[in-house]
Amino acid sequence: MHALNRRDFLKAFGATASLALMPAALRAQTGQRVVVVGGGFGGATVAKFLRLWDPGLEVVLVEPNPNYISCVMSNLVLHGRLNMADITLSYAGLTGNHGVLLVPQMVDAVDADAHSVHLANGDSLGYDKLVLAPGIGFIYPDGLQTPQAQALVPHAWKAGPQTQQLRDALLRMRNGGRFVMTIPTPPYRCPAGPYERACQVAQFFREKKPRSKVIVLDANPQIIAERHIFEAAFAGPFAGIVEYHPNSPVLSVNASQRSVTTVGGTFRGDVLNVIPLMQAGKILFDAGLINVDNRWAGVDLKTFASNVPGVEDVFVIGDSHGSGLPKSGHLANAEAKVVASAIIAQLGGLPVNAAPVLNNTCYSAVTNSTGSWVAGVYAYDANDEQMKAVPGSLGESPRAISDDYDRMFGWARNLWADSLG
Ligand SMILES: Cc1cc2nc3c(=O)[nH]c(=O)nc-3n(C[C@H](O)[C@H](O)[C@H](O)COP(=O)(O)OP(=O)(O)OC[C@H]3O[C@@H](n4cnc5c(N)ncnc54)[C@H](O)[C@@H]3O)c2cc1C
Repeated sequence: MHALNRRDFLKAFGATASLALMPAALRAQTGQRVVVVGGGFGGATVAKFLRLWDPGLEVVLVEPNPNYISCVMSNLVLHGRLNMADITLSYAGLTGNHGVLLVPQMVDAVDADAHSVHLANGDSLGYDKLVLAPGIGFIYPDGLQTPQAQALVPHAWKAGPQTQQLRDALLRMRNGGRFVMTIPTPPYRCPAGPYERACQVAQFFREKKPRSKVIVLDANPQIIAERHIFEAAFAGPFAGIVEYHPNSPVLSVNASQRSVTTVGGTFRGDVLNVIPLMQAGKILFDAGLINVDNRWAGVDLKTFASNVPGVEDVFVIGDSHGSGLPKSGHLANAEAKVVASAIIAQLGGLPVNAAPVLNNTCYSAVTNSTGSWVAGVYAYDANDEQMKAVPGSLGESPRAISDDYDRMFGWARNLWADSLG
């Protein structure tokens, strides 16, 4: 049963600007409602494709932010090649083109038995199917437990104000300063992302502050994505700028001193960027859906439905599930289509696709004119109930080249348009 029916829903949210923009949404009259929590690559895409493939469905996207700020390409803001406006995407495509109803709220509780979510403003919203796509949360090290300490040391691993904060700190930093960054053990979002970040900051230093250094404290024994690409970059264009320390998990952070302690010693930076260990978004903990390593939501990989016993009609996509799949925007977008298809099949009493296939491609900016890529295809294996890389499908570019730097912009624009356009 819905806690809010359609009339109540419009009364509660009808005054918001977002709903005022979407008369097309009012045409959906099937009485079946899908609620999507989180408007990132996973949530935005599933909302869009549910409406594209079944315009009769009512699709409500609950997302507190007025725009989506893309992590994809955000390391280029640290370099200065892009600015925040370039990675800020509007939800107007979802609402105006596809009739998705946007509710600008946080979901703070899920009642799976009652099939409803509770919103931070006190309202609740009923659903027939629920998709949770809240992205990630962080496990902070000693010294970064308080909001005050966290405010001094941006991770910028959720693009937004912290991305600008880090860029501003790099701009203010003296020539000859030290940028100290840390890399956690996996699983974390975007395996190549931290190494891309080291390169983009090093490229900025090379151009503007050539006496400066990038100190990379990696918790892993070696570079864990596109190793040959980043080793070549650290030893080539960034030799003398990037100092790479493997096997260096963070033991503690002193935010006011801007220092990080690892087994290898204490490293003081003019600018400190600690990327913490990651876990599923908070709402999945609150909803009792965490059952993988106490950090991630378990799912049935054929449909991405939660596999917590007794929980029905709840799906988890994007970075929050513990599936072994890489955590990328491109995969979140691909998973969203599998979920949209499964939901429409289930609501229509049809069988779901028994053999879904996902593809993943990520580009990395290396210098200001060269880039690289990694790609893979993952297919559902019914015997093991796993998504497995299709033999021969995993690939990495042999070296960073300018054609791939240029292609990266088209790839990102495509992903943004496919998810939110
Ligand atoms: C520096 C960097 C570079 C990257 N580069 C690439 C790349 O090149 N290619 C690539 O494919 N991926 C890349 N990624 C990874 C990519 O950004 C993530 O994998 C992707 O964003 C995951 O999508 P998502 O939908 O799971 O989460 P998100 O995109 O984080 O979206 C989650 C949304 O949920 C909302 N939300 C959270 N909780 C609630 C709640 N309780 N109620 C309502 N809303 C809520 C949030 O506001 C947010 O908008 C990069 C990441 C980083 C940090």
